[in-house]
Amino acid sequence: MPGVYLSWPFCGQKCTYCNFASGVLPREWEPRYEAALLAELAAFAWPWTPETVYLGGGSPSRIPAEVLGRLLAAIPGQPWREATLEAAPGEVSAELAQAWRAAGINRVSLGTQSFVEAELRRTGRRHTAEVAAADVATLRAAGIDGINLDLICGLPGQTRDSWETSLDWIARLDVPHVSVYMLEVDEDSRLGLEILNNGARYGAGEVPGDELQVELYERAVERLRESGIERYEISNFARPGEESRHNLKYWRLEEYAGFGADAHACLGGLRRQNAEDVREYVAALESGRSPVTAETPAEPAAERFFVGLRLASGVEVSAEDEGEYGERFRRLMRDGLLERDGTRVRLTPRGVLLSNEVFQEFLV
Ligand code: SF4
Repeated sequence: MPGVYLSWPFCGQKCTYCNFASGVLPREWEPRYEAALLAELAAFAWPWTPETVYLGGGSPSRIPAEVLGRLLAAIPGQPWREATLEAAPGEVSAELAQAWRAAGINRVSLGTQSFVEAELRRTGRRHTAEVAAADVATLRAAGIDGINLDLICGLPGQTRDSWETSLDWIARLDVPHVSVYMLEVDEDSRLGLEILNNGARYGAGEVPGDELQVELYERAVERLRESGIERYEISNFARPGEESRHNLKYWRLEEYAGFGADAHACLGGLRRQNAEDVREYVAALESGRSPVTAETPAEPAAERFFVGLRLASGVEVSAEDEGEYGERFRRLMRDGLLERDGTRVRLTPRGVLLSNEVFQEFLV
């Protein structure tokens, strides 16, 4: 069953590590952005009824309750099996949480990133560990138990001790789902650019080295497992049955529609991307044009491996795959990066750490 992604790119601050097309945008753009989103939703032919909805961005926790109601009312299939809203810690109030629940939201992903104040301040995040903990309690009181907490491994100044502090908070809050992302270093974030330029701003000189980052990631896998939360995707961990149904669609190459600036879609064997820039996206819809800026055929065979291998369960190999990729499988197994269990291949623990090397093999 397909899913729907909706992007709300407005944020309260631009975090130093963030490489998304989001940030502090003028508030007066919001009504025009809402109108553009509603126009894009209304023009969609809905070949199916979605079972999941995901509001990301950006900070969808900043969407006024009445706007959220209008946006969700434009999506068929209520009540959805899973409807997730990404929230910035500190932006969750009892009234909002109740409004989210009433609008059909049953899962909230909190962008906690760290529970250590010094690490949070450097990234531009304004919350504290206590604020994040209060948000979790508020969500539960409103009847939203599907809660994900995000952590970033590799933040400036992070140490073994500070990582344990964050993992202690995660264990204490006892949530069913946790995401652990490795810090991405690229030119699309201020911190990434500073690291690439060997600069010192944003704590760029104090990013833990690769070996320590690997150690911290593996420690998270261990600590989460002790709490009954297993890794089911490279960056995602859940109690059994609490995996994100929506995100699993991306890794299983199932269909999803995307609405909003920089939203992606996978529909009818095609991958589509909307205009990244909010102004460009709004201008397209205001003048009756499509906001899609790129459309390419999906490559099911290769994508099945370089996307599907992210899953701990691995990928089923057909006789046809064997002919096309058999030599690559054997090479990666010799290098200790892939393992095989009957007709399934999956990353080894070493392969998880060197996953980009493995994925490259399927991109050529
Ligand atoms: S990390 Fe989240 S809150 Fe921070 S700028 Fe990026 S999208 Fe906005």
